Amino acid sequence: MMVFLTVLQIIPALLLSLVGAPMLPVPAVPHYEAALTGTLVAEAIFFLFLTRSTDSQYRIATFSQAVWLFAFAWVAMHLLGGVQYKLNLTIALATAALIGTQSHPVHSVYIILLTIAGAVSIVTNHLYGFLPGTPPSTVQNIPEYVFSIFFPVVSVTLFQVVLLGFKRGKMVLPKPVPPPEAPVSPLQAAADRPTPQGSVIMSGEDKLVETSQATQFFNRVYLENQGDQALKDMKDILNTVVYFMSRNFKAYTSLGFLVSELGDKLTLNAVVTKSRNLNYDCVIEFGKGTIGSAVNKPAGFITGNLRSYTGELEYYTEQENINSMMIMRVMDNQSKRIQGLLLVDSENMRAFTDEHKELMYRFTQIASAMITSAKLTYQMNKVAIQADLQYEIAKKLSESLKVEEVIDVLTQSLMRTFEHDRLIIVAYNSATAKGAVWRIIGDPGALTEGMEFDIHDNRSLYGSVFRNRKSVVSQGFRLETRFVRFDRDEPEEAKPQDILIAPIHDDRQSVWAVVGLESNRAGVYSQTELQLLKTIMANVTTALTKARMYTEMEKLATIDGLTQIANHRKFQDIMTMELERSQRYNTPLTLLLMDIDHFKKFNDTYGHPVGDLVLQMVAKALQGSIRNTDYCARYGGEEFVVVLIQADEAQSRILAERIRKAVESLQIENDGRVLRVTVSIGSATYQVDAANKQELIDNADKAMYSSKQNGRNQVSYFSQVKLIQASAVPSH
Ligand code: GH3
Ligand code: MG
Ligand code: MG
Repeated sequence: MMVFLTVLQIIPALLLSLVGAPMLPVPAVPHYEAALTGTLVAEAIFFLFLTRSTDSQYRIATFSQAVWLFAFAWVAMHLLGGVQYKLNLTIALATAALIGTQSHPVHSVYIILLTIAGAVSIVTNHLYGFLPGTPPSTVQNIPEYVFSIFFPVVSVTLFQVVLLGFKRGKMVLPKPVPPPEAPVSPLQAAADRPTPQGSVIMSGEDKLVETSQATQFFNRVYLENQGDQALKDMKDILNTVVYFMSRNFKAYTSLGFLVSELGDKLTLNAVVTKSRNLNYDCVIEFGKGTIGSAVNKPAGFITGNLRSYTGELEYYTEQENINSMMIMRVMDNQSKRIQGLLLVDSENMRAFTDEHKELMYRFTQIASAMITSAKLTYQMNKVAIQADLQYEIAKKLSESLKVEEVIDVLTQSLMRTFEHDRLIIVAYNSATAKGAVWRIIGDPGALTEGMEFDIHDNRSLYGSVFRNRKSVVSQGFRLETRFVRFDRDEPEEAKPQDILIAPIHDDRQSVWAVVGLESNRAGVYSQTELQLLKTIMANVTTALTKARMYTEMEKLATIDGLTQIANHRKFQDIMTMELERSQRYNTPLTLLLMDIDHFKKFNDTYGHPVGDLVLQMVAKALQGSIRNTDYCARYGGEEFVVVLIQADEAQSRILAERIRKAVESLQIENDGRVLRVTVSIGSATYQVDAANKQELIDNADKAMYSSKQNGRNQVSYFSQVKLIQASAVPSH
């Protein structure tokens, strides 16, 4: 290419020398002098076309400088004698002017070659008289010719050296530096929507950010929690981008920052630097300093003279000689949220141009796309895992028939699904009409189980869930001023950062408890988590409804409607189960069977409804007389049974007597009178008095009959009944 261009430039010079000069109408000017002058003018124009800059101002400056220098050289040529010197001086000066403005070393090589070609043509003309109208002259002074060739070469080189020296001193022709705040490209201008700003005043901007916006900014969740792998992926991406930045911009230091989990800080995540003083733990607060301020600058920040900005660079531990800097935000194109910052700096002044800025913008676009993709992959995985989990939870819940089982599955599920520091279940204590912390799983902090609070306190967050029956999420609860957790203020460090609460209820909507998830880390719970919790709770509601219906059905089948104690069927089941156990562990079991005395007459005298009331009162008296481990049931009509676990005849005596007395002392109020009833009780003990269930019931019945026979309102024991019968037999 270079050879081609050189040849291209020699051709017009030779053509003008050989053809153009003889045709010139001015005889006073020597032909070859005129020819070479023309060549120079042609060269100057030619060079202007070679100029790569599209900047018209820049081209005009080049051209005027070239013309000025040429005019100066022309005058000098006439003042001096000696054609060769004059011409070669002219060539040298004009060339130098051009080179100086072109600032590209290749151009000076063209000129040197051209000058040599011109000089050679002059020398050969002198020696052999090639040019028409010029008589060949004899060689008079060889060093003069040699010098005439080398003079321009040396002067061009010197000029170049001087110019380069000027450039070092930053005295280069001023190329217009674009204003730092100009939009990078229409593309980016379109992409930049107003972004909430940090709660700080920007340098150079007097605008104070509204508090509401600042809070919104604080609450922003950018990095998903539990996303260690996603964070690692993002760091890898940033490292790659920063590496390429460092190569492309020839930067002293290239940095990549990622927005912290809280969304209010920038943490240094990728570094390529020549410095030994880099602060790798550097954290930049939004809006603070030169770097933090760039968060609020959609077009980025660029300077070629950093000294005009005050303040130290927080990513160096020692002062560095940094003159240029370029910072640009990495924005999520969809959410318009800031993802990070890219930064390059340089020791040179004005090291970064508009073209660099455009390139930097592309780097931010690539970084953004890759970060978003890493995030999406992570989220998709998370969604898939959650879908599995949801299915599992729904299945487990649907299998739970009891309320306790449902609560168990719920707590297990919540603990597996959500990141948390503690899980709290708060129940409603109807006795005190207060909320009571029923269970705490995880770090209890300052909380204790059993603690009660006023759910009607308007500031109570947990109370609001009881009252509104709606799930809530609170982010950054430590900064929350409208709510307290329960019904009193807590020191900031005792408060969780994020809280997620849902009511526990069945389809009847009455809330009997609420479940709360608490995290000491902010940004853990958001709308997404709330939605997820609601889905789980919908399944819980279904499960609780089912559990309630199951319980009701079970009750219908086993509980006597009038007396609310176990019915005959349940009694049979209990007997089967308990006799088995009694047999296995070889423990006694005593059955009491009782019948209300003269109840037919009672009914007839006071009416059936009063009789029913008596049955209810007797059932209650039974329940109140037995131990927790014993059972009572309505055997049928006005007959009741009591099953005494691990009690032999001797032990059962006390209980049986207590029951008899309890019934005897019942006061049944009717029409201003107090009525009384008594019972006749029969007792039989398993394995001593009977070998199986039926035998045991029959024998207890025999004992009861014996009580009736002996005057009622008494307890009879089958062992004694048997004895009497046995002794009676021989007498017959
Ligand atoms: P005894 O002392 O010999 O047991 O005399 P009794 O009158 O209690 O005789 P019996 O056990 O044969 O009478 C049962 C009576 O209990 C018949 C019926 O009027 C009454 N009875 C049975 N079930 C109910 C009930 O559900 N409600 C009421 N009010 N009475 C009932
Ligand atoms: Mg009876
Ligand atoms: Mg009776």
